[in-house]
Amino acid sequence: MGAKLIDGKELSARLRVEIAAGVAALATRPGLAVILVGDNPASVSYVTAKERACAEAGMYSREIRLPASATEAEVVAQVAALNRDDAIHGILVQLPLPRHIREQAVVAAIAPDKDVDGFTPVNAGKLMIGEECFLPCTPHGIVKLIEFAGMETQGKHAVVVGRSNIVGKPVAALLARKGADATVTLCHSATPDLARFTRAADIVVVATGRPNTLTGDMIKPGAVVIDVGVNRIPDPTRPKGFRLVGDVDFAGCAEVAGAITPVPGGVGPMTITMLLWNTLESARRHAAR
Ligand code: NDP
Repeated sequence: MGAKLIDGKELSARLRVEIAAGVAALATRPGLAVILVGDNPASVSYVTAKERACAEAGMYSREIRLPASATEAEVVAQVAALNRDDAIHGILVQLPLPRHIREQAVVAAIAPDKDVDGFTPVNAGKLMIGEECFLPCTPHGIVKLIEFAGMETQGKHAVVVGRSNIVGKPVAALLARKGADATVTLCHSATPDLARFTRAADIVVVATGRPNTLTGDMIKPGAVVIDVGVNRIPDPTRPKGFRLVGDVDFAGCAEVAGAITPVPGGVGPMTITMLLWNTLESARRHAAR
């Protein structure tokens, strides 16, 4: 492997020390509420990891579990109660929600000043027009990882593969905004000849949900590769019966790239860290009112 490993666990650990110090310095304990609807195993494990991270940072967390049969109105009512609760500074609705519930309707019910995921239309809009807002956690973590890898984004060509509202589009917006100053190309499933774009990139961010979207022959030597993907591949040799892979062919890309994130241990830990970051920020803003 020629590429330097971009260690998300190491960067997360450093940032979490800073966050814990910030929490200790506040008179009010930052509080995060997580709403979990149903018992999707991946969602349950994400929620557990978030609660553990809150406790380690000295934050208060509250889990609200609703059955998969809960109605949209019931979930929105829980959000509304948390909007009014002074002990709660951040509200997170674990996605995906059961099919009969409109995610947009639930997310839009979160008060923008407690939207620590940065998913509400208000925060997403503010990001687009360059106003201060809660940055969405995974995209924010990705920008931090690129910085940690020692890659200046100014004047660089960044190719983002995937245009979802939670990863691809906000990553593209963050890299293109004033101060970051990258030139950004946003690719998706209808992009013909993806390799033509990725080969021209100094930075490639891949968020497609498809293993091996990016292979070693698709990048330029020395490029920084950020693999956002989390895919469970059945593997009877593992205790849980599966292993995690990203959206990038790690072995092949690591031969050519200058730096690359692993899966697991790259973007994943940063997502939770930036959630703690936003929750602390929200508690600070509420305390200053
Ligand atoms: P979505 O399914 O919402 O979006 C996937 C995007 O990738 C779409 O825009 C789609 O294009 C595009 N795409 C799919 N296949 C290809 C292809 N072959 N070539 C080019 N573009 C393609 O996924 P998310 O953005 O929510 O998540 C992406 C990945 O990141 C998943 O593996 C997810 O698990 C992971 N993830 C990880 C997080 C973390 O904390 N580590 C957090 C969030 C997500 P089109 O729009 O045309 O359909």
